[in-house]
Amino acid sequence: MPIYEYHCQQCGKDQSLLLLTRQEIATPPHCRYCGAPHLTRLLSRFAYHQSEASRLQEFDTRTPRDDSFYKDSRNVGLWAKKRAQELGVDLGPQFEETVEKARSGKILDEL
Ligand SMILES: [Zn+2]
Repeated sequence: MPIYEYHCQQCGKDQSLLLLTRQEIATPPHCRYCGAPHLTRLLSRFAYHQSEASRLQEFDTRTPRDDSFYKDSRNVGLWAKKRAQELGVDLGPQFEETVEKARSGKILDEL
């Protein structure tokens, strides 16, 4: 769902608006607090690429993944990292290195 963040220049309040139609998106909305038509759209958080940290946070190790999940090389090692995090295990820099190699395919050269 497209949720946009707006800032009201008149009363200074930030607000999130769910805009469903193209027309709603094209028409600047009015402030829900003071009714002013001077809302500035803030850069949506959805505009950012998800960082590994946030992907790790949202990753649920109990949810079964199908093969397509692992076709995204960025997801390789995510499960292990998350499990380690949940168990409070520090995998150390060597693990990071192994994951990096696995993601870039370098690990295959060494086997
Ligand atoms: Zn306002």
